[in-house]
Amino acid sequence: MAIAGGCLCGAVRYEIAADAPLGVRQCWCRVCQYLGAGSGTVNAIFLKDAVTVSGPLTDYVSIADSGSVMRRRFCTECGTPVFSETDPRPHQIIVRVGTLDDPNIARPGAIIWTKSAPSWACFDPDLPQAGGQAATPKA
Ligand SMILES: [Zn+2]
Ligand SMILES: [Zn+2]
Repeated sequence: MAIAGGCLCGAVRYEIAADAPLGVRQCWCRVCQYLGAGSGTVNAIFLKDAVTVSGPLTDYVSIADSGSVMRRRFCTECGTPVFSETDPRPHQIIVRVGTLDDPNIARPGAIIWTKSAPSWACFDPDLPQAGGQAATPKA
């Protein structure tokens, strides 16, 4: 089974040769609040080798709150955040769950960077929370 998705305008499409993500986390770091228009983001981790991408992506390189170099990839046409990659884990790719054709397959398993969230943010009480960066699933 392949997982598929793409950006809002359809210029970027991707397929992932996997049955499920390695892990899914909701992130409330300050950068994700920009990307999420006020909310946090939901991010699914996959092996980079499993992902095939077509379409125009622009990289934005920055230093994350964790200190890692992050490469965030946006659709050049519509600006949808689609992927991010981090230099310490070059074999993994992070997919913005909102771009999946079926976001139901990527239920968050943890919430991270809660200390950066605004006071009105809502957290699922059933999920483990980390005030900052949490360990990344090994793969
Ligand atoms: Zn687009
Ligand atoms: Zn974040």
